[in-house]
Amino acid sequence: MNRRNLIKGAGLSIATGIFGMASKTEEAIASEYAKATKGLPRLRITNVKAILTAPQRIRLCVVKVETSEPGLYGLGCATFNQRPLPVAVAVDKYLNPFAKGRDADNIEDMWQNAYTSSYWRNGPVLNNALSGLDQALWDIKGKRANMPVYQLLGGKCRFAADCYTHCSGRDLKQLESSVRRAMKENFRHIRIQLGGYGSPHLSEKPHFKDAEFGLPSDSHMKPGPYVRATIKMFEHIRSTCGDEVELLHDIHERIPPIMAINLIKELEQYHPFFIEDPFAPEDNGYFKLLRQQTSTPIAMGELFNNPHEWVGLVSERLIDFIRVHISQIGGLTVARKLAALCEWFNVRSAWHGPGDVSPVGHAANAHLDLAIPNFGIQESVRFSQKTKDVFPGYPTMKDGYMYVNEAPGLGVDIDEKLAAKYPLPEHPGYWSPVRRSDGTAVRP
Ligand code: MG
Repeated sequence: MNRRNLIKGAGLSIATGIFGMASKTEEAIASEYAKATKGLPRLRITNVKAILTAPQRIRLCVVKVETSEPGLYGLGCATFNQRPLPVAVAVDKYLNPFAKGRDADNIEDMWQNAYTSSYWRNGPVLNNALSGLDQALWDIKGKRANMPVYQLLGGKCRFAADCYTHCSGRDLKQLESSVRRAMKENFRHIRIQLGGYGSPHLSEKPHFKDAEFGLPSDSHMKPGPYVRATIKMFEHIRSTCGDEVELLHDIHERIPPIMAINLIKELEQYHPFFIEDPFAPEDNGYFKLLRQQTSTPIAMGELFNNPHEWVGLVSERLIDFIRVHISQIGGLTVARKLAALCEWFNVRSAWHGPGDVSPVGHAANAHLDLAIPNFGIQESVRFSQKTKDVFPGYPTMKDGYMYVNEAPGLGVDIDEKLAAKYPLPEHPGYWSPVRRSDGTAVRP
């Protein structure tokens, strides 16, 4: 008899105990359970490994956790596009020996102990590795319960996750046609950017290039032209595409905080759905000043790693959307607690969901989106055909909504042989330097 049938037998005998003999004490029931399950092998973790793959040239890291039950494994997302190799080492050389032999059932216990197993903690590399292990354990628990993970989290609060999509253009005309295309695809929420982050196309050749400071490939960002162009962008899209579409914009932290405050005040008249990342995490103290100046909804947090970065912002009601990257904060176990914290302060979710989250991670986002009352919006993604082939069961999009399948667990698998055909690109993947005209480094 395999382990699942043995457990089933034990469950039946306990149920008989409860319903057949109503007078039985809790102690007697516990003792009967202990007798029925005595000698049963617990589900042990037998191996934890990182799988690196880049089917669409983005460096994805997925963690596979194997168990003592043949064929039963889980997958979790540990994608840190800018530093994938240290994450893989943290998984293979540290989390694997730590987790091996431990009970796969006790997710919370595993999270708490793995989190402190490095003593120093809350950094992006170790948080991503921890997320890979954590999400894989949720995947395993779903498979054992024969339920999708959203059911383990409490069941559905909505039929699917409403999403926003990205639209950008080198100029207003190009952006406008991109927005019109997205509206035809039934997206109701659209993020608009002109010339990427910080509109490098809008300004002249930077002086640092003439002076041969830095490398010719370093990019350039000038706050003044960006601010003026962003106000014109909102004005143009509102006047040409109407008031019904919800507009979002990502400042991406690149301008001085007081300029961000002035920009967001100006944008209030165009009623954005939210403005994202006005300040770098190092400037969290500016949120109070921002709140005193404008009621424009604010989303923040994709660079957060540490609870100290979000607890104050949420509990003082200084932001409206929490936008963390779930693998970056340590996985589903911590994200569902963050969602619960936000619920009591009416802060809604907007989990980070770009291309540098694996389909396993997007599924984790979407399962949580389905189960929390304070869901706000989900960032959508377009997987290439190659990515879809490597990750069968990936979340799907229809009419601006993201859907997960009903398979037990997170519902996403990996074709390891195919994944191995897409090694990481040779470029290590670091975030390219961005500079002011005189060469000063700009913090994203
Ligand atoms: Mg962003």
